[in-house]
Amino acid sequence: MIIYNTLTKKKEEFHTIEPQKVRMYVCGPTVYDFFHIGNARSFIMADMIRRYLEFRNYEVKFVMNLTDVDDKIINRANENGISAKEHSETYIAEFFKDIDGLKIKRANSYPKATEYIGEMLELISNLEKKSVAYNVNGNVFFDVAKFQEYGKLSGKKIEDLEIGARVEANEEKRNPLDFALWKKAKIGEPEWESPWGNGRPGWHIECSAMSMKELGETIDIHAGGNDLIFPHHENEIAQSEASTGCKFANYWIHFGFLNIKDEKMSKSLGNFFTAREILKKYSAETIRLFLAQTHYASPLNFSTELLDANTKAAEKIKNLAIKLDEILAKNVFGNSTPNIKIGEYFTQFTNAVDDDFNFPKGIGIIFDFVKDVNRELQTEKLLPKEFYLTAKEFLFETAQNVLGIVDFSQLTKENPEITRNSKENDLIKLLINLRLEAKLNKNYALSDKIRIELANLGIFLQDTKDGTTFTIK
Ligand code: AMP
Ligand code: ZN
Repeated sequence: MIIYNTLTKKKEEFHTIEPQKVRMYVCGPTVYDFFHIGNARSFIMADMIRRYLEFRNYEVKFVMNLTDVDDKIINRANENGISAKEHSETYIAEFFKDIDGLKIKRANSYPKATEYIGEMLELISNLEKKSVAYNVNGNVFFDVAKFQEYGKLSGKKIEDLEIGARVEANEEKRNPLDFALWKKAKIGEPEWESPWGNGRPGWHIECSAMSMKELGETIDIHAGGNDLIFPHHENEIAQSEASTGCKFANYWIHFGFLNIKDEKMSKSLGNFFTAREILKKYSAETIRLFLAQTHYASPLNFSTELLDANTKAAEKIKNLAIKLDEILAKNVFGNSTPNIKIGEYFTQFTNAVDDDFNFPKGIGIIFDFVKDVNRELQTEKLLPKEFYLTAKEFLFETAQNVLGIVDFSQLTKENPEITRNSKENDLIKLLINLRLEAKLNKNYALSDKIRIELANLGIFLQDTKDGTTFTIK
């Protein structure tokens, strides 16, 4: 497998720290409001990558944090006259509703920043001991000049770095790029005790502390949206590596923005749709199919036209899944040789997606498969059970388990006929076999009786060279 690593700026062969085990950390939401479909793009891409690694037989420990202490949360809570905790708890519950709505597989853990204050204090103390952090009147800053490799992720030199959107200007800093590890308490803000007086943690230290506590000092994959490369991930690397002396993450994966008219979808610009709004009109399968057809690292423009087109495309996969389920439930098979080999589609899918999670190419192969299998099903010939089973398995493993663009469990729920038919068909098969047994025993009276009685019920048997089939009229 090959992954594009933001850290080295090239595609690299994927090697895990422990054989066949992946430790993956994804920067999660700041829980101050519903998340938008742009955030959802990052969450869904991370989900598909995790599921693909599982498809490739890796055991993945997947952690997504919840930032539950932050300026935006505090402001909203104060506006509503409730505590920051109360506000963030409300939106954590809403976050999970949307995650489930989008059929995103639950992470192994969702650490909340406020539950890791002890670990953050330990990290900051260690940095202070190493003189990489300094305290000014109860505000503790990271001294970027002390970390030689600062800028290695974003590929920028300290002297070239501009103060970006998420870099706060502050007179107490030695260098404008220094960032807060600990913020002195202010009235109306949540606070915790610390060696530097009461206060609250800075945003970046939260992820370092949670990633290290949950997954260890060095992890395999750290991921998030492109906007997090600088300063968030650059700062995570600086403070973690300055503290432990170990590499913080081996592979850095970043997701391209979901844009609206080529502009990043964001709360602050007001050009957003919540995931919830979109889920009212489109299924999780359609949304996922739309998102997965652009490479995770490239920008993608939001478009309802494309969502509509993908509703139809998702239907095609679903219809084939239904057909396969119906055929398998009918339980009538033959010995004809199919023109296609399902195993080849598995190989093509894997080869495609192995190259830096190329889901668009993988989806292309799924659609080729749908077209080719439909062609097989249109001929009247009866194929062996194995064919239908492996065809279903292909859709189940790729379209459902990796991409979540079809949901077999939904099909059976929507179509109880399949399960009921399956029982009926099993009964008919049983009678067909009894008739065959009677025939072999030369008990023609009984075998004829079974055939005639079934015909009276509208079930007609046909003896073919592949065995006995039936039609219900
Ligand atoms: P936030 O709650 O703003 O920290 O964002 C949560 C996640 O969503 C982060 O990984 C962001 O990088 C990502 N994100 C935010 N906006 C977008 C967007 N328009 N497209 C893709 N990912 C985004
Ligand atoms: Zn983070």
